[in-house]
Amino acid sequence: MIVRVALPVPLNRLFDYAVAADSATPAVGARVLVNFGRRSMIGLVCELSDHSDVPKNKLKPFEALLESEPLVTAEQLALGQWAAKYYKYPLGDALMHLLPTLARKEPAPYPKPPTYWALTEGANRDQISKRAVRQRALFSFMHQDNGAVSTAQIRSAGFDPKLIQPLEALGIVYQTDQPATLSTKATSTTLANQSLTLNAEQQSAVDSIHAAKGFTAFLIEGVTGSGKTEVYLQSIEAVIAKGHQVLVLVPEIGLTPQLVERFNHRFNAPIVALHSGLSDRVRFDAWQSIKHGDTQIVIGTRSSIYVPFQSLGMILIDEEHDASFKQQEGFRYHARDVALVRAKRLNIPVVMGSATPALESILNAKEARYTPLSLTQRAGDATPPSFELHDIRGVELDTGLAPEVIHRIHDHLTLGNQVLVFINRRGFAPTLMCQQCGSTVDCTRCDAHMTLHRSPPKLHCHHCDRQTPIPRCCTTCGSDELRPAGSGTERLEDRLTERFDTTRIHRVDRDSTHSRSAFETLMNQVNTGEPCILVGTQMLAKGHHFPNVTLVVIVNADAGLFSADLRGMERTAQLIMQVAGRAGRAERPGEVILQTMHADHPLLNTLVHGGYRIFAEQELSARQTAQLPPFSHQAIIRAEARRQGWAEAYLRRVRTYLEQRFTAAQRPLIVGPLPSLMEKRAGMYRAQLLFSSSSRAAIQAVLQDAQQWLETDKESSRVRWNIDIDPTDSL
Ligand code: ADP
Ligand code: ZN
Ligand code: ZN
Repeated sequence: MIVRVALPVPLNRLFDYAVAADSATPAVGARVLVNFGRRSMIGLVCELSDHSDVPKNKLKPFEALLESEPLVTAEQLALGQWAAKYYKYPLGDALMHLLPTLARKEPAPYPKPPTYWALTEGANRDQISKRAVRQRALFSFMHQDNGAVSTAQIRSAGFDPKLIQPLEALGIVYQTDQPATLSTKATSTTLANQSLTLNAEQQSAVDSIHAAKGFTAFLIEGVTGSGKTEVYLQSIEAVIAKGHQVLVLVPEIGLTPQLVERFNHRFNAPIVALHSGLSDRVRFDAWQSIKHGDTQIVIGTRSSIYVPFQSLGMILIDEEHDASFKQQEGFRYHARDVALVRAKRLNIPVVMGSATPALESILNAKEARYTPLSLTQRAGDATPPSFELHDIRGVELDTGLAPEVIHRIHDHLTLGNQVLVFINRRGFAPTLMCQQCGSTVDCTRCDAHMTLHRSPPKLHCHHCDRQTPIPRCCTTCGSDELRPAGSGTERLEDRLTERFDTTRIHRVDRDSTHSRSAFETLMNQVNTGEPCILVGTQMLAKGHHFPNVTLVVIVNADAGLFSADLRGMERTAQLIMQVAGRAGRAERPGEVILQTMHADHPLLNTLVHGGYRIFAEQELSARQTAQLPPFSHQAIIRAEARRQGWAEAYLRRVRTYLEQRFTAAQRPLIVGPLPSLMEKRAGMYRAQLLFSSSSRAAIQAVLQDAQQWLETDKESSRVRWNIDIDPTDSL
């Protein structure tokens, strides 16, 4: 008996091992410990066979069987195999994504589960002394999370775990071995709270979804604030009631405690949220509970698409256009597309939703591959925001803001409202510039400026993470007149604090809100409704409900208008509409001001005056004319090397090989090799070869061949290469 094992090595194949006479035959999906290149490795059994091409004397038995029951389900394994093949990623490495990190690292028995802490039933914050501020804060944190939290989670939320002891002494918390985030609610009745009465559009969307039999892909195009989440909630009700499981895929920064709370509030079903903040152990426990069917609702980011389910009944994909669904390194899969494949194999419905669907999804809906559902009205009494393109040509800006815009901010604050100022750059300023010679401080490892940060003061390359102290003098001319050029969130925050000194200013970016709880605290402050200004990056754009924001200012609406990326315009439009969608989500109407140097840009005008859908139609027809995606399919082979020119030379070799191997009629159009737009990054010089064809099959066939060739090519050792199928980033 032979077992074929997937191993975490960059080779697109399985490895054969014998089963020792005294060993049990492993199940497909179980892990084994094997010796590979004199190292012990954890591998996943993918196939059993009675023959091997490896000569008998070379065939080693595996070292140990790590579990008698399969850890990975057959359905999961098949999905992983499909994804590895489709995305041209080494099989073993790809299949490792099916396992939670702990199972990739630890043979078992797994490390002892950590201790968890939970609030006692009926515990009240007033039991804690008013002066014990941190204890009270910890109480609130645990209260929000609604489940048990581990010491590690308490620490990562910024609390000293010692704070637990007095709370335990007061009988407010108790120790438990129940994993975090698994709510322990009874499953007897499904609905914990009544659903809202739907409006006609919402009702018709829910009705269509309920009527779905087997695989159907729905695309809900619903303007911001139209109540998509309510549609999701009511769509899954029946699925939950039948005892099936639901997977809710959300973008990286869309997985907020608020969203989890909405599901938790509605359903008496066990829910788990899978996000990057979980420890390996907590994630593993959650994974097991999903596999055994103990968890009914899973809300998670991209990688949750590979989690094993016992009885998956529906997949929801919120903000389906979001770029974070595509993994941009290593295993470059698109979670939305993998979700569609998974749902098709399981014959269950998929519901995608967005205010700004991806152009490929709109085309899929137009061509009847998806069922379109639309929500054109804001839910409740909210009305759509009004847009204004604010021409800043020839206007002297004050820290990036036009004087008139500052007046308008003032007006909204005076009326007791909140204002959101969006800028797509964190840090203090995009760079430091020498006043004498005009040179900027650039990263030595990338073709990029170093971003100036104020707190803590440093220069930081956002591309390779290089950090340096702030230099005193220009390295080109020696002058000490280095000044910040342009503004980022920190500088705007400073200026607004100075200008509106009695108003609270909240900065929201990756630097200011690193922990989930910090973000949550901030959201609670904002939702008290007190007038304030929120200054931030796209962290503010997604999904959040700010009922008191009536003015949204987009500082630099032009940032992506002239991008060389074919999706630059689409991304810009999505971002603008998403940020704008934060305005006027309750009774008070919202205004959106876009500062622009291109107030007569046709597509920008279409977007703000005609809406996203009309914009999308125009952009789609431009793509069709140019035969760009979604009207053609693409793949990219990227390469990078330590020396300039090597990556390009290598890709030329790949191109020559493919041109000899395939006739012009068989192969896709090949463009390049060309240096990447940012040629140098983290010390590597990068280039790419682009493939494009109207036939997915042609791309698959040629890239499959290329993958095999690249893996065995001797000269490939000078470069690092990767294949990107359906790239979402064409630069
Ligand atoms: P979206 O996800 O489309 O941006 P949400 O689902 O967050 O919108 O809904 C926006 C707001 O409208 C929420 O406060 C929600 O509670 C409310 N809402 C949704 N549907 C209804 C309804 N049918 N009746 C009243 N309020 C609703
Ligand atoms: Zn200088
Ligand atoms: Zn750099």
